[in-house]
Amino acid sequence: MTTNKLGLYIHIPFCIRKCNYCAFNSVGVCAAGAGTGIYGSTAGSESAFGQAGSANGQACDFTEAALLLFRKYTDAVKNEIDFYGRLAADSYFVDTVFIGGGTPSVIPAEYISEILEQTAGSFRLSDGAEITIECNPGTLTETKLNTYIKSGINRVSMGVQSFDDGLLRILGRIHDSKTAKESFHLLRSAGFQNINLDLMFSIPGHDMNLWKKTLDEAFALRPEHISFYSLQLEENTPFFDMFEKGELDLPSDELDRKMYHEAIAVLEEKGYEHYEISNASVPGKRCRHNLKYWSLDEYLGIGAGAHSYFAGCRFFNRENADEYITSLCGEEFSPKKESEAFFAPCVQSEDIVRNTKDDDMSEFVFTGLRKTEGINLGEFSARFGRSFFEVYRGCIPQLKEYEKNELLSLNNDNFRLTRKGIDISNSIMALFV
Ligand code: SF4
Repeated sequence: MTTNKLGLYIHIPFCIRKCNYCAFNSVGVCAAGAGTGIYGSTAGSESAFGQAGSANGQACDFTEAALLLFRKYTDAVKNEIDFYGRLAADSYFVDTVFIGGGTPSVIPAEYISEILEQTAGSFRLSDGAEITIECNPGTLTETKLNTYIKSGINRVSMGVQSFDDGLLRILGRIHDSKTAKESFHLLRSAGFQNINLDLMFSIPGHDMNLWKKTLDEAFALRPEHISFYSLQLEENTPFFDMFEKGELDLPSDELDRKMYHEAIAVLEEKGYEHYEISNASVPGKRCRHNLKYWSLDEYLGIGAGAHSYFAGCRFFNRENADEYITSLCGEEFSPKKESEAFFAPCVQSEDIVRNTKDDDMSEFVFTGLRKTEGINLGEFSARFGRSFFEVYRGCIPQLKEYEKNELLSLNNDNFRLTRKGIDISNSIMALFV
């Protein structure tokens, strides 16, 4: 029996309502006319989901149709976990689970428990496995959090984004700053000792004073982990449409970079370790699950649209939740076979990519460069049986040029971006794609 480590990502694609910038695979279950098919029309009702989420972020009263949808989706997720458990439990043990979304805290907490029970029943779960759930302020209750704790969840990632109410309204978030703080204290009272806060900068209307205020308020709470991201403009979002019409007041690129470096200065002053381009933690609390993505470690994505790197292949599930449920619960349930590996019936089979060794080497480098400690070149040789300098001989002159300009550091043991280099990380990483 081998002992390969495996991460499980479990996607729950439901939110109270869609934020103005969001292009994630999620659906707002409280908005009127939230969608079609199983998301839509219950007789006599414009939406299947009844009362909309209130402005202060209290969760909706879900209709029976919504609860039925959550039930079916949970069953499909359990079936997928069961499928991969039968396939892989002998050769893998799970050391991280990340329940993300969407807003997983929207569905009944008992369903999250069921999913974790299925995981523990189908796989060997290592002692001390990191089990994270994403949640949003305004969707938490004491009872819900107690259920999470009893289910073994030991880490929470909360999407705060800002402590400024004006910016939260612009983003279309369901919560305000007060609700975010109350939710954080609720997490602490429930016993969570490993909490991440997601923060966003370069929001339309953002300035440095507002960003500093959000940083101050976030660090005052002493979370164990902070993620800080620049707003990304994505197609098919209200923000994108506004941008096209010239109606979006976005901060300049220069201010964006200043905000980024301000965050690093503050977090270092507060004793946090900046370990990845957009992530920092107190010592010992780095996100072990997300580190897998930057270290070419294996993970299985469970749920609608979830991506996997498993058995040497990259693949993803059907994005549409109706189709996802049908493929795993309906009569058409039948596994797919690609070369020597099997894939669950929810996998988008025409898009399964078997990585070559060249693919793996390049992914190891360009994802590894996201970590501030960079990549260990001894590990590269041990893993691929070839030296970094031999494989990327053609890039060395360009890398040396970047090094001369203090954008990266490269020696026989280690290759990493400098802080200055992070600002042009996409250009440097592109050399390896
Ligand atoms: S809460 Fe997150 S996943 Fe849901 S709509 Fe907003 S940004 Fe998207």
